[in-house]
Amino acid sequence: MSESIENNSVEIETVDSDIVNRTRELAADAQRVVVKAGTNSLTDGASNLDTSRIDKLVGDVVGLLEQDKQVILVSSGAVGAGKGQLGFSNETIEESQALSTIGQSQIMRCYTESFDRYDQTVAQILLTENDFEDPDRFTNFTNTIETLLEWGVIPVINENDAVATEELRIGDNDMLSSSVAIGVDADLLITLTDVGGVYTDNPKENLEAERIEAVGSNYAEVQQLIDDSSTASFGGIQTKVTGARSVSEHGIPAVIAKFTEPDVLAKIGTSKAVGTIFVPTNGLSNNAETTQNDV
Ligand code: GLU
Repeated sequence: MSESIENNSVEIETVDSDIVNRTRELAADAQRVVVKAGTNSLTDGASNLDTSRIDKLVGDVVGLLEQDKQVILVSSGAVGAGKGQLGFSNETIEESQALSTIGQSQIMRCYTESFDRYDQTVAQILLTENDFEDPDRFTNFTNTIETLLEWGVIPVINENDAVATEELRIGDNDMLSSSVAIGVDADLLITLTDVGGVYTDNPKENLEAERIEAVGSNYAEVQQLIDDSSTASFGGIQTKVTGARSVSEHGIPAVIAKFTEPDVLAKIGTSKAVGTIFVPTNGLSNNAETTQNDV
């Protein structure tokens, strides 16, 4: 590691390029991929579901299926779609919960219609964090996922906002998608955002903010940068970084990338440099000489 990039307060080391390249190859080789899309990526300015954006995501996902990969989609947007449907701005958690129950069926209608263009069947799964902690519920969840994937069906997962509020309060499904990736033994987590990666500052406000290409051995510095920036709007990046780091600590690479980037999933599927990639902290399984010390 010889290079670094700086923001006002923290110097971020650049991860060794060999490790970055090998992580990109690992990501490209992934067989089971969890793809997460957030509300801002799926809705328009009036909080209506944007069918052209959903069609873009669905086209990208179908591209992965054509590479014989399994895809599990984690989709936010239920509250947003509910807001758009009622033309109502939510102020309380209870209102968000109720709106999510209206918007969730709209989301599934959009995904069903969009995937129909490819004769691809989808299934809805609504989860809470408790479902990962209770062994019986967890087994039931993984049995359902395995059966759907065996049938070639795409599970579309959201938090069950009617009975849980974790993601409504803080997460935008970033922690849920991380738990799903770990729980189903995924080979890759891709978090699609309107920001497009981890930057040295909020790129929506600071045009000089630089993209951090990879997070690995520099994690402590990246975390420091994000903690320092947490009072300012930082593009909702905190939970995305926490979620991606959590899967990388389970040996799973993760990528945070821009939803609107053309062929974004195909690029990741062919080892291209996209967004910010998180290096698994327990070594790269395809190249065993990389060890914990490397990341
Ligand atoms: N489960 C929530 C939803 O689908 C995620 C939180 C959010 O995106 O605001 O709306």
